[in-house]
Amino acid sequence: MSLKEQYEEVLQQLPSHIQLVAVSKTHPVEKIQQVYDFGQRVFGENKVQELVEKAPLLPNDIQWHLIGHLQRNKVKYIAEFVDTVQSVDSEKLLDEINRQAKKCNRKIKVLLQVKIAEEDTKFGLEVSETKELFLKWLQGNFPNVEITGLMGMATFTDNEAQIRREFSFLKRLFDQLSLQHRLQTLSMGMSGDFPIAIDCGANSVRVGSAIFGERSYTN
Ligand SMILES: *Cc1c(COP(=O)(O)O)cnc(C)c1O
Repeated sequence: MSLKEQYEEVLQQLPSHIQLVAVSKTHPVEKIQQVYDFGQRVFGENKVQELVEKAPLLPNDIQWHLIGHLQRNKVKYIAEFVDTVQSVDSEKLLDEINRQAKKCNRKIKVLLQVKIAEEDTKFGLEVSETKELFLKWLQGNFPNVEITGLMGMATFTDNEAQIRREFSFLKRLFDQLSLQHRLQTLSMGMSGDFPIAIDCGANSVRVGSAIFGERSYTN
């Protein structure tokens, strides 16, 4: 299948209210430009260096999402242009994003990344930490960030029941926090599990290989 066919096949599986973040990590700017030309505007990268190298070579109305683990000392390189940091997994990181956003005189959107996988390998906040951080923000801390939602990654498994359990868990937390302050974005689901995520209430999905093809190296 061509890049266009793959992209369209993914789009066809997304109800109209679902945001697609096209995960372009490891893929060259030429391919990203093609997907941009098909109409896609939201792209995700998981490494600061790669994002910083690619962004200036591509149209400046792309909304860049940082989706991978972010080290505090690298926030300064993306603060000026990143649209959303999806992978906030500590208060210190949130504090640094706030600090750098203030320097740039802007507000950066962030998602709190919650640990939902039963396997113990992924980054993310515990539920209690998520609630505490959200409350601190509601009380007026970190004024240069806007917490717009939650992000989570399910366990890498063929066990669909387990994936559903993990996504549904995050959806319940999302609904609970939304009672305090309306949240827009529940980011769950990748190439292998996005239809399940949508079924469980995701309204934003991060899809890489189903659009761009397999990555030639792991990242
Ligand atoms: C790579 C990545 C994705 C996309 O993965 P695919 O399986 O290629 O769709 C989504 N989310 C995060 C956090 C990633 O690092």
